[in-house]
Amino acid sequence: MSVEYVINNIYRGCSHGCIYCFARGQHYNSSDFTEIHIEKDGLSVIRDEFERIAKPIVVATGGLSDPYNPVEQDSQLTRSVLELVNEFSFGICILTKSDMVVRDIDILQKIKTHSPVNVCLTITCAEDELCRIVEPYAPTSSQRFAAIREIARQGIPTGVLIDPMLPYITDTESNIRTIVKKAKDAGAGYVYTSMGAIIEGEGREYFFKKTEQHFPGITDRYDRQFGSSNYCQSPNKEELCAAFAEECERHELVYGIHTTDMITKDGRVFASILLNLSQNSAL
Ligand code: SF4
Repeated sequence: MSVEYVINNIYRGCSHGCIYCFARGQHYNSSDFTEIHIEKDGLSVIRDEFERIAKPIVVATGGLSDPYNPVEQDSQLTRSVLELVNEFSFGICILTKSDMVVRDIDILQKIKTHSPVNVCLTITCAEDELCRIVEPYAPTSSQRFAAIREIARQGIPTGVLIDPMLPYITDTESNIRTIVKKAKDAGAGYVYTSMGAIIEGEGREYFFKKTEQHFPGITDRYDRQFGSSNYCQSPNKEELCAAFAEECERHELVYGIHTTDMITKDGRVFASILLNLSQNSAL
């Protein structure tokens, strides 16, 4: 199967409230990023787009918004897109922070009969307490691991993306090792990570406002380490990469992405990486 990809931001805006989100304001020019906008006639636009595609592709969704925002529970727009993907005999790569994706396993099973399917859960914090600070309105890390367990149990290829990794907050060896172990225990087939974060634009102001509430003095630490740079790579990158690799090998998990590639801000890099995984794992 010839595989290409389409970045498919099904919603505009996101209510998961991640304190590091660089999509906030920057990409939507929206005063309230947490307000979800559903594109009028979005589904028919996507159908038209699909009809113009001559060969089989894999559709990737999950950049700059989450396809399983809470509104998805009622609107079922993402589910409708999956049905379209199935109708057109395309494949699908989903990137999400929500366990709601489990609801759609039935359609993923149908897609899997003819095309690649991959579901990647972003998990940046091993423990729920930290997750609640960093990603306050998204399902907890535990809920996401539970989703992986169910997705894997039903035979759908799944894995974990540890991205971003926030210097002085989540960039600890313990956090990384625990996420990898929990991913393995849940049935993930791969884990990928970045070793840093993009903190920019309106998101930058929001990030420091929120992090100071829980980690006083962190703005000064970032200023000293990164200056005005938007790209904040963990100062312990080398040690953390080694620990990450060791833990993945111990648990026989696929890993090994060039870390800087993982935080390309338009999402295309990890979309293409996920496609490679799909090619490897589902066909
Ligand atoms: S889930 Fe993604 S788009 Fe939504 S707030 Fe978090 S980082 Fe931003």
